[in-house]
Amino acid sequence: MLGASRSSRLKTAVTRAPGTRSVVARFVAGEAEDDGVRVARDLGRTGLRVSLDHLGEFTSDPAVVREATQASVSMLRRLAAEGLAPIAEVSVKLTALGLDLDRSMVLDNAWEVVSAARQAGTTVTCDMEDSTRTDATLDVVRELRTEEPSVGAVLQAMLRRTESDVRDLAYAGSRVRLCKGAYAELSSVAFASKAEVDASYARCLGILMRGDGYPMVATHDPRLVDLGERLVKEHGRAADTYEFQMLYGIRPEEQRALAGRGHTVRVYVPYGKDWYGYLMRRLAERPANVAFFVRALATR
Ligand code: FAD
Repeated sequence: MLGASRSSRLKTAVTRAPGTRSVVARFVAGEAEDDGVRVARDLGRTGLRVSLDHLGEFTSDPAVVREATQASVSMLRRLAAEGLAPIAEVSVKLTALGLDLDRSMVLDNAWEVVSAARQAGTTVTCDMEDSTRTDATLDVVRELRTEEPSVGAVLQAMLRRTESDVRDLAYAGSRVRLCKGAYAELSSVAFASKAEVDASYARCLGILMRGDGYPMVATHDPRLVDLGERLVKEHGRAADTYEFQMLYGIRPEEQRALAGRGHTVRVYVPYGKDWYGYLMRRLAERPANVAFFVRALATR
């Protein structure tokens, strides 16, 4: 499935298949900015926070990079206008903002988004993509933080390097989202088994929770969510010094339950037309999703 996420032939076939829409709707707010805003408002009413992601990645066309930058800026203005900035931030993929094209281009574009967030009164988190881009992504985050320390970083527990990155980033004011990692990686750079990835996640989470930064515990894994809750208690962390994060459409009842227990919970809400790569990664995470997808295609 992860290989399929980069196949343009399969992308065309899947995008055109009539049954795809219902599966997409489970994980994606919709194709328009209005859809993202609507879902943010609805989740906000239930006590959840959101991070809105305008879908798109691995962009090589400067015109598409410009559109992606404008889309995030436009969403941030909208969040301010709708009074949603206190509960909503924006996530960006740096390859959508020109990471693969030119360092000064991605920095200018990321800075435009970060400035819009600052004006709106909210924050930006830079998603992490595959391991060939980890250094470049962290380099951009570091640069943005010199002017805007609230910019969030993402680290992936599956990578062997991450424990060291987590130590570097566990400083005061540093917002760090810890996830398992959603990309196909070589065993030279990443742990291969679920047990190793989970153990790495637990070690990294311990470092973040003991540190002075702001950990963002991004997982649906019940054992790791439990561990997060235990560590919060053990380190006496106040509710505004960390948060849990989950993806739109995955374990929604647990999202509300965690918020009900007094934790800040943020839901990552993707929207936009370029949903193919995101959908393939969600299908890859769970065999049952693939069966659901195949059934949806077969019943149309
Ligand atoms: P898993 O062991 O995969 O899953 C644990 C349980 O959660 C499963 O048993 C199942 O019940 C449920 N579950 C998990 N995934 C699904 C699914 N797709 N459909 C249905 N149920 C599911 N990855 C990156 O590489 N870069 C990022 O920037 C990034 N940002 C993220 C932001 C947030 C808020 C979250 C929650 C995840 C993000 N991810 C990112 C994805 C992450 O790396 C994992 O691929 C994904 O979260 C699945 O791992 P898990 O921790 O939920 O554990």
